[in-house]
Amino acid sequence: MVAPTDTFDDVLPEALRVTSPAPLVDIGANLTHESFARDLPAVLARARAANVTTLILTGTDREHAEQAVALAREHAGLFATAGVHPHDASQWDPALEHAMRELHGQSEVVAVGECGLDFNRNFSTPAEQERAFEAQLGLAAESGKPLFLHERDAGRRMREMLHTWRDDISDAVIHCFTADRETLYGYRDLDLHIGLTGWLCDERRGHHLRELVGEIPMDRLMVETDCPYLLPRNLPAKLKGRRHEPALLPWIVKEIAHWRGMDEAALARATTATALAFFRLPTGETRPATEHEEF
Ligand SMILES: [Zn+2]
Repeated sequence: MVAPTDTFDDVLPEALRVTSPAPLVDIGANLTHESFARDLPAVLARARAANVTTLILTGTDREHAEQAVALAREHAGLFATAGVHPHDASQWDPALEHAMRELHGQSEVVAVGECGLDFNRNFSTPAEQERAFEAQLGLAAESGKPLFLHERDAGRRMREMLHTWRDDISDAVIHCFTADRETLYGYRDLDLHIGLTGWLCDERRGHHLRELVGEIPMDRLMVETDCPYLLPRNLPAKLKGRRHEPALLPWIVKEIAHWRGMDEAALARATTATALAFFRLPTGETRPATEHEEF
């Protein structure tokens, strides 16, 4: 147990520093985002102080996936995903496919993704998105690694494509689930996992999710910050810069526990057990820490 490190903890106000009653896995942390470049060691130390002991770094394109792998090599308790986000699907070509296949062969890479469909913004055309997603479903089948999926306003097409591939892929998680009941039950029928972020802490747009959290099977639920995005709106103090970070994950777990009507510690233990099994992470001590490791 590491005490909160006041020396470089000038970002998180005292009121926001909480420690989860059980170790947590943040299954979606975009720590290769430029906003973390200046103080990553402090961010990792604060996560550890909050009992957020394992972080899955999201790799949304080749560059970020390679950076995530490098960080996972450097710090115990960090792992990476490698994929091409639907926004960048237009870049998909044989060279990129080759690079992704190589990344999926690395032991630090524990999932294929972030990949999927986003028909909300269509930064790449739907046809380009489907092509890149289809190829990555193939890579997931090839490597046997689980999928880390992004879906926005594309639930129906996502379900159709996953239905076709369901017998060939292993597990898959819909990260940052924000959709409706019908979509949730469609995903349940496909035996998918569901990742919840601080979206349901948002009183303006999280209402429908609050009613749905109890309908996610306990052994299919995982938690994530999706930091630096989606700063929860249930925090009792203002945060300079409004950058979300893994140390704030316990606030999301508290909120989910409240809406599920269950104990925070029990929820923390359950989501962690699910995440360790889903990403096939070593249980207990992840790796022997070396001297320079901060996390
Ligand atoms: Zn996403």
